[in-house]
Amino acid sequence: MQTEQPIRIVIAGGGTAGWMAAAAFARFLDKRFRIILVESEAIGTIGVGEATIPQIRLFNASLGIDENQFIAATQASFKLAIEFVGWTKGGRYMHAFGDVGRENGLLAFQHSWLRGKAEGVAKPLAPYALNNAAALANKFQRGPARTAKLLPEMPYAFHFDAGLYARFLRGLAESGGVERIEGRIVSVARDGENGDVTALKLDGEREVAGDLFLDCTGFRALLLGETLGAGFEAWSELLPCDRAMAVPSERARDFTPYTRATAHGAGWQWRIPLQHRTGNGIVYSSAHLSDDEAAARLLAGLDEKPLDDPRPLRFTAGKRTSFWKHNVIALGLAGGFLEPLESTSIHMIQSAIERVLKLLPGKRVGQVQRDEYDRQTHLEYDRIRDFLVLHYWANDRDEPFWIDRREAALPDSLRHKIELWRASGQIVRGEADLFSEVAWLQVLAGQGIAATGYHPLADAPSHDEIAEYLELIELLNAREVGQMQDHAAFVAQHCAGKA
Ligand SMILES: Cc1cc2nc3c(=O)[nH]c(=O)nc-3n(C[C@H](O)[C@H](O)[C@H](O)COP(=O)(O)OP(=O)(O)OC[C@H]3O[C@@H](n4cnc5c(N)ncnc54)[C@H](O)[C@@H]3O)c2cc1C
Repeated sequence: MQTEQPIRIVIAGGGTAGWMAAAAFARFLDKRFRIILVESEAIGTIGVGEATIPQIRLFNASLGIDENQFIAATQASFKLAIEFVGWTKGGRYMHAFGDVGRENGLLAFQHSWLRGKAEGVAKPLAPYALNNAAALANKFQRGPARTAKLLPEMPYAFHFDAGLYARFLRGLAESGGVERIEGRIVSVARDGENGDVTALKLDGEREVAGDLFLDCTGFRALLLGETLGAGFEAWSELLPCDRAMAVPSERARDFTPYTRATAHGAGWQWRIPLQHRTGNGIVYSSAHLSDDEAAARLLAGLDEKPLDDPRPLRFTAGKRTSFWKHNVIALGLAGGFLEPLESTSIHMIQSAIERVLKLLPGKRVGQVQRDEYDRQTHLEYDRIRDFLVLHYWANDRDEPFWIDRREAALPDSLRHKIELWRASGQIVRGEADLFSEVAWLQVLAGQGIAATGYHPLADAPSHDEIAEYLELIELLNAREVGQMQDHAAFVAQHCAGKA
């Protein structure tokens, strides 16, 4: 009896995208698949990407990763929220993970909150969100709430060193049977009849043949873009920032369990505390700020001493017109780029891997699978884009960059969301919308977009009952936060990396 040859999946590129895919495929695919990863140390990886969202925990858990070990290996810290500073004049607010307030039967929390605001008994959202309250106090805890059964467990994500994460995943992938080939891809061979990719040609006259190819080659998109000619839909009108500079600084004295995103005259600056250093970077529009000015602004905004010179990066916001052509699927930066304002890129790699695994073809790829993959991926990109655009559009700053953002035309999907909120306090989560209703709520309210109405059921309780309800949520959160451990102490006790 002839044994069937395994289906060969070739991963081109060994950045975060390549190694996440390799580790997941090694875990979930059986012996009928052979996984090969090609990467070039000479070319290197983008080397940024430090903040994540809570879904990363599901990915790690599905790979059987021990969380404390992973945190120590990647010099990670915990992330409960993103703090936005200066996006409106003098304003600061958090987009915290997890619940805000509590639903009241059918009624989403924001309706009771809007009523409370109208009657002068509601505070800004911060004290009603456990993650927000904990983040502001630099506190952290893992597991069920200690003081009240009513409180949910705090969701959290991580800040980590992306290079160390890729190395960590490489160890897992290789021990799971992934073959790694070091080499530079110099050309791509295609089938003369159907146009499918048949092999990667490497320097040194080597060739890696495959049945399915994952293009994880970063911004260059060597397979999907350069070889197969997939177009790129640029979103520069909506998201005009096209440059970044990254610089590490010494470990922060203020070891916060949250990312900080501080607006400046032509973009924003990130601050991400890790165990061994702090990650910093400035994102800006080159039409409004020169590279020299950006570098000076970045260094002036650091809390601690820089450990290196700022490293420049260029990008265009947007996505491929198709993410899967022939037998090539693009993952990571090869598929598109949305700036790291809400830390979504690594998550998008994770969700793409999940989609690929769900729609995984055999040796022959059907158009219907490609179409479905594309449909889901486009939606995901579009929804995240809307969320990012909201941050820029709803500003009251005076600089030309910000005035332009305020006056820019909005995508219909975003305009609808804003109009619905303004008219009725309603927030509807659409298909493939990564961000929940309370995520939208925090940004809509935080950026100062007022809702003029709320659900009529919110008028059922008396004035005193609404005041007590809001006060109770605040008290429960404050009591829970009061017994949490300091974030730095928690990390030192459970998951400190080697200095
Ligand atoms: C300024 C900035 C900040 C960011 N911050 C965040 C963040 O906070 N959170 C987040 O989730 N994401 C963030 N990202 C995105 C994140 O960095 C990427 O999504 C992630 O690193 C995945 O990159 P990648 O693997 O697709 O590409 P890369 O890291 O560029 O890897 C490409 C791989 O392809 C290989 N390669 C390329 N050409 C060839 C060739 N010819 N032959 C052989 N190998 C080749 C390279 O060697 C490398 O291994 C940020 C991005 C930028 C630009």
